[in-house]
Amino acid sequence: MATFKAIRIDKAEAGQTVAFVDFDEKDLMDGDVTVRISHSTVNYKDGLALTGKAPIARRFPMIPGIDFAGRVESSSHPDFAPGDRVLATGWGLGETHLGGYAQKARLKADWLLPLPAGLNESQTMAIGTAGFTAMLSVMALERHGLSSAQGPILVTGAAGGVGSMAIALLAKLGWQVIASTGRLAESDYLRRLGAAEIIDRAELSKPGRPLGKERWAAAIDSVGSHTLANVLAQTHYAGAVAACGLAQGMDLPASVAPFILRGVALLGIDSVMCPRPLRMAAWKRLANDIAAEKLAAMTRTIRFADVPATAAAIVAGLVRGRVVVDIAGAAKG
Ligand code: NDP
Repeated sequence: MATFKAIRIDKAEAGQTVAFVDFDEKDLMDGDVTVRISHSTVNYKDGLALTGKAPIARRFPMIPGIDFAGRVESSSHPDFAPGDRVLATGWGLGETHLGGYAQKARLKADWLLPLPAGLNESQTMAIGTAGFTAMLSVMALERHGLSSAQGPILVTGAAGGVGSMAIALLAKLGWQVIASTGRLAESDYLRRLGAAEIIDRAELSKPGRPLGKERWAAAIDSVGSHTLANVLAQTHYAGAVAACGLAQGMDLPASVAPFILRGVALLGIDSVMCPRPLRMAAWKRLANDIAAEKLAAMTRTIRFADVPATAAAIVAGLVRGRVVVDIAGAAKG
């Protein structure tokens, strides 16, 4: 029996169980490419999946992990050959299809991208779904016609993964970045990434007025709920907000006032089903627009064995920046 190490979620009467197992290779799902995974990451959604706080896993047993990088082991698809360096994010990995917290994955070739030129597997996962989502948000604001010339930009959930990546990307593009955080002790960290101003997230997290003083031309919001409502209410005339997350809540207790009185636009961002051409464009830009030293400054690497504890920490809002999981290291014991 050929097996590989994996984290497995099983459905139990009292919720779910999470265990490190030797997974039988014949139980991998259908796909035309098998990948030897070297790195994965811990995203907020992985935290929800592993703690069972939200029903992310929708097939059991499930290998969680919504993204990974590695090398092709075998392929029946003409676009990929053994040894090719690849990455995958979303498409239901860790939700409906066995995911990245494993030494192997089998999946459709259409879900794989070649590793972007200039990035290795570890850097690719330091960016991961969070960085990819931050870039999709930047590109959506640009498509709306916004640039740093229009005024400052707000980033909420600033010390988190999407937030840290968004700050670094926007600063490089010349935006004046206002970072909203509940961790004011991380102000130096946020300034090093490129934030020009730090505000306390408490300013935005409570119920607010339908319209407020116009404070930013654009925003990237990974928080949702009252925060997103307040962000919209304080966006400049004809500005836009890219909404990509729900760290405070899935609700949106807002009024239509910013839309109908200020022409503000709310742009939805989804990384999971994002079409392949947009993925290729976003990763190409990520490889160019993120400085290696900033990526290193926001990233730490953990052992495979540390994933469950880190998953609990990210849901508790305790993880700063990005976390890479060294899956290849698990093979060495
Ligand atoms: P992180 O946990 O790394 O970042 C979230 C940040 O939000 C925290 O660091 C914290 O920042 C802030 N935060 C946490 N709890 C609260 C709260 N109760 N109220 C206000 N702010 C809070 O997660 P990720 O960066 O991985 O993901 C961020 C969000 O984006 C998640 O909701 C995730 O599901 C979503 N997401 C969506 C994607 C998509 O395709 N649309 C893809 C990737 C992520 P601070 O301490 O600075 O205040």
